[in-house]
Amino acid sequence: MKLLKWSARLSLVVLFVLLPLVGCSTNEATGRSQFLPLSWQEEVQIGAEAAPQFIEQSGGELPDQGIVQYVRDMGARLAAQSEMPDIAWEFYVLDSQVINAFALPGGKVFISRGLMAKMDNEAQLAGVIGHEIGHVTARHGNERMGKAMITQGLILAAGIGGAVSDNEYMQVLGVGTAVGGQLFLLKYSRGNELEADALGVRYMAKVGYNPIGQIQVMEILREASGGGAPPEWLSTHPASDTRISNLEAIITQDYPRYNEDGFYNMGFDSFKQNILTPLNKLPPAKHGASAMLSPAEFEKIVGIPWEHAVGQKCTCHP
Ligand SMILES: [Zn+2]
Repeated sequence: MKLLKWSARLSLVVLFVLLPLVGCSTNEATGRSQFLPLSWQEEVQIGAEAAPQFIEQSGGELPDQGIVQYVRDMGARLAAQSEMPDIAWEFYVLDSQVINAFALPGGKVFISRGLMAKMDNEAQLAGVIGHEIGHVTARHGNERMGKAMITQGLILAAGIGGAVSDNEYMQVLGVGTAVGGQLFLLKYSRGNELEADALGVRYMAKVGYNPIGQIQVMEILREASGGGAPPEWLSTHPASDTRISNLEAIITQDYPRYNEDGFYNMGFDSFKQNILTPLNKLPPAKHGASAMLSPAEFEKIVGIPWEHAVGQKCTCHP
């Protein structure tokens, strides 16, 4: 790490004393108090800067306006039920075989054709998109970046006078750090995943989709990871039995009518007609399944201690 000027050191002292006071807020989606080092505008800016690189390196956008529009419409319906209905949400379908979905801070949500091809109903798609919307509304990227910055000492300079550039923020987040022409996202914690799962279920059920779709996705991913390398989505979204049992508990308690015929929508026919049939007519994905390094390989090459950035206590709750 670069040596800091004395003035920056002084700032640090001020920051560490004041940060717990100024950086904490209660999240509307989760009801949880969290420490957020970045403003909403900074989240939006980081997402906007990272998105074009991600899209380009994931095969670009899917060359089928019908599918793209269908996913955008579903994303818009889900986002309208979230705690942030009015932000500039954007939904992208990537022409990638990699089984993946992710969100960038500020409201940009991505899903690969490789993941959609594994699904067979709308409730599953709503589950994945709802989960990613949940990462945005819970502001997990911002929160994790704060933890990573504390780990790396960058927070020292970050709060004062914009001494840390956006590029450095993005390196901390993992985005903007290109390794072999690839970009990576900071891994969420298990706690983040459980929160995003719960929020995803909340949003999809409000739109009328059967929350059971969320569990079906976990099973699809588990099956896809059997034998070969785990899908990219599992690398950025740690899966576990905990997540499935968490979902089962939420659904049986809060959505008991999930197994009542016709109460919720599954959308098998619509998904087949709007997604699977046109998807099968497209040429192969531009971005193949074996094109990406795993986060573990990335960590080896770059040496950024991701694990150190995960699981630190929020300074709101010393
Ligand atoms: Zn996730």
